[in-house]
Amino acid sequence: MTVTAIIVAAGRGTRAGGDRPKQYQPLMGRAVLARTIAALAGHPRIGALVAVLHPQDDAMFAEAMAGLSIPVTVVPGGATRDASVQAGLAAVADGTDRVLIHDGARPLVSVALIDRVIDALADTPGAAPALPVTDALWRGAGGRVAAPHPRDGLYRAQTPQGFRLEAIRAAHAAHPGGAADDVEVALAAGLDVAIVEGDEDNLKITHPGDFARAARVLREREEMDIRTGNGFDVHAFCEGDGVILCGVKVPHDKALKGHSDADVGMHAVTDALYGALADGDIGQHFPPSDPQWKGAASDIFLKHAVGRVAARGYRIANADVTLICERPKIGPVAAAMRAEMAALMGIEIDRMSVKATTSEQLGFTGREEGIAALATVTLIRT
Ligand code: MG
Repeated sequence: MTVTAIIVAAGRGTRAGGDRPKQYQPLMGRAVLARTIAALAGHPRIGALVAVLHPQDDAMFAEAMAGLSIPVTVVPGGATRDASVQAGLAAVADGTDRVLIHDGARPLVSVALIDRVIDALADTPGAAPALPVTDALWRGAGGRVAAPHPRDGLYRAQTPQGFRLEAIRAAHAAHPGGAADDVEVALAAGLDVAIVEGDEDNLKITHPGDFARAARVLREREEMDIRTGNGFDVHAFCEGDGVILCGVKVPHDKALKGHSDADVGMHAVTDALYGALADGDIGQHFPPSDPQWKGAASDIFLKHAVGRVAARGYRIANADVTLICERPKIGPVAAAMRAEMAALMGIEIDRMSVKATTSEQLGFTGREEGIAALATVTLIRT
């Protein structure tokens, strides 16, 4: 099944104020229309995009889409919304099964909402998102309430409105014009249109205050930014009487060799933190060639990474480290390691896991030549 999205953006949008049509005004640094197009282009089931623009807006459109490298077929709109949609429908490649017709001023459309529309088209020739009206309704005249109006069965319509391509092409060709949306056109042609659940966030930017509301939704979405990082480290054994693992000195008949204190577990967690931030690794921040880190306690590295996490606006949701060695036995000291690591990272102990495994006497860890550690961390934007 092939799906093309038609973005209708030929209107002048004067109610939103500003010195240019609302779809070209910036919403958190990017034009509304560019955000709308990017939202549709990012949906895995949408294969092609057609943008219907006012013939005078080409330069603003090019400016809005600069740096986005999204392939879009641009067609000039007509004098009315119906004419613009028909121009868009004419530009859809033959052989396309479904079209989604979307307002250029609805930049917050979600993947889940688009899925609901596309899924419903399996059963009906049309499908559109809507929300039931919950406010009481009145009819008014001259600044006075004339009469209450029943709200039962009333919905607020949204877009994208989805249709089977040939059905909506035929419906538009037969329609006299003046429809408020494409569902109205489809109904006039006798098409069955399913209502799917809309989304309060899928707002249509219409008035000046809508920009602030849309920006709030975008900021909330960014706050959901969750990141994962992994880290891996190995240190070889040398002569000695103990090792430092996850900040805890563990008696052993060997030590670990390294430029710093060779705390392989702490290094793995530190690298996982840098990894989640896409911020390099320990070697970049603390070059082994720099003598000042010789014999350094590894908590310097860990605290640095924890600081970078906070500076970038994240908190550590959890960390999990696995030590791979035959000896020393980790079980008896794991609780102390968790407590030490949690304290250094400023997190509760139930967010810090330290566990261990052997490698069944296989490989360098099995031959007790050294210890390996791997770590995973999760960061959440605060
Ligand atoms: Mg290391």
